[in-house]
Amino acid sequence: METASVNITFLGGLGDVGRNCTCVEADGKLLLIDFGVMFPDATMPGVDVILPDTRWLTERAADIVGLLVTHGHEDHVGGVVHLLREFQVPLYGSALTMGLARHKVTEARLEDRTSFQILNDGERLNIGPFDVEVLPITHSIPQSLCVVLHTDQGVMVHTGDFKLDSSPIDGRITNLERLKELHEGPGVRVLMADSTNADKPGWSASESTVGETFERRFPEWGGGRVIVSCFASHLHRVQQICDAAIREGRTIFPLGRSMVNNVRIAQELGVLDLPHRCVDSIERLDMYEPGSICVICTGSQGEPNAALSLLAKSDHSDLSLGPGDIVMLSSHPIPGNEIAVFRVIDQLTRLGCEVVHDGHEHVHTSGHAQRDELRQLYDILLPEWYVPIEGEYRMLQRNADVAVEAGHAPDRSLVVLDGTQLTLDESGLRVTGEVPAPYRFVDGLLDDLGPEVLNARRKLSEGGFVHVTVIVSKKTGLLGHPEISTQGWIDTDKSVAVLAELEVEVARAVQKSIGEGTGPADLERVVRRITGRFVGNRTRRRPPILASVITVD
Ligand SMILES: [Zn+2]
Repeated sequence: METASVNITFLGGLGDVGRNCTCVEADGKLLLIDFGVMFPDATMPGVDVILPDTRWLTERAADIVGLLVTHGHEDHVGGVVHLLREFQVPLYGSALTMGLARHKVTEARLEDRTSFQILNDGERLNIGPFDVEVLPITHSIPQSLCVVLHTDQGVMVHTGDFKLDSSPIDGRITNLERLKELHEGPGVRVLMADSTNADKPGWSASESTVGETFERRFPEWGGGRVIVSCFASHLHRVQQICDAAIREGRTIFPLGRSMVNNVRIAQELGVLDLPHRCVDSIERLDMYEPGSICVICTGSQGEPNAALSLLAKSDHSDLSLGPGDIVMLSSHPIPGNEIAVFRVIDQLTRLGCEVVHDGHEHVHTSGHAQRDELRQLYDILLPEWYVPIEGEYRMLQRNADVAVEAGHAPDRSLVVLDGTQLTLDESGLRVTGEVPAPYRFVDGLLDDLGPEVLNARRKLSEGGFVHVTVIVSKKTGLLGHPEISTQGWIDTDKSVAVLAELEVEVARAVQKSIGEGTGPADLERVVRRITGRFVGNRTRRRPPILASVITVD
């Protein structure tokens, strides 16, 4: 009898950095690995987050047996609330990942739609028909997992996000021994590997090397207040900052919603070794000497409403910065955020702060494997098929090249994008289908935005709009003046004459049209055309034009 095939469907993370979601199918059941968000760029005004599209999953809702989350980053777990609104799915992951997920789910009052199953390193369990093993793997958030699926078609390995850090802060190293065993034992048929840093040669620096910088710099800062910004999820970084600060007699003040939450959750779970007596709330900051203060805050990516941006704009209610303060950005701008980050650095410098960042000091290292690390993982597993995941297209391609450079057959390194369905059977791994995988934009409570609405928003953001209303009597023609309202087209105080001219033009055109027997429906078109022509000729601007004709007896 032929053994049943196994399918893999990529719903996000292949072709972009973000909204990671891989769906594996066996025996008619589906196991999701990660359900993350992606953050919008400047071309998506008003969008909160971007999710994997779930149209295809909706058809298969009854078959979903679980969501296994590899780690607690937003691009892997951030969509969980949205997923649970649509589907009742049990969640699986490490204690920290589940702690972070539980916080989101509780806030959204969706606890009754899921359960939280905590997985320990090395655990092997059944989720529906899936025989799942999770291994410790290093990354820039504690307790990240590498997923091993023992299927009827052999072993599949999904790395999640990873780097190979031989000296992580918590001593929890990647279980390369077990990966070696998998190669030697059953052998690995498919390896899906993180592509984020596949462009970068060499080996990423260990997280502990960043701590060495903190140990060196903190004693130099004596009497000044120290403010350090990093990702709130980067708890090993937070740990190292706290260690260096506490050693110098400083108290820790978490600042920013996610920093406060994550520090609390990590303290409760014992992930963060931070005695309660060494932490205080930002409202009590004034009771401390500057030299005994270390604020740890969010906003290292220049996010406009995060703590660091508010501090840089002198717009924070609890803290204002100035000469004598030392601000450290323990981060590297994510591509696209450079301008915002440098603006923050500039503003802080203007305030007189000493600013330390990764342009001139080793205060950050990446959480993603560079080429030599990818090569080592490949050499250990020697998979039959190699599928780069988690990256923009060029990163996926560069990752595929790592395997080929290691001697892998080029036609067994599959560079595919979101929406692709792969099938693994005795004859190998191949593309067998395609499902819809467009961006799903969330703004507020709805996720109905498509290219048309976004296009309209872009136009409005470029030129504002003009709305002209005319009231027409069936008997006597135009009543009163056309009413012009606008947002963002011109300054209505400075350009009163322009508005008056437009009123006259519209009134004249409407009266003429009525005289020629034009009906109300056509009048609207006349008003729009006249207004559009006037606005274009008189101001050389192209705002969208709206026209309303109200007919009375
Ligand atoms: Zn990550």
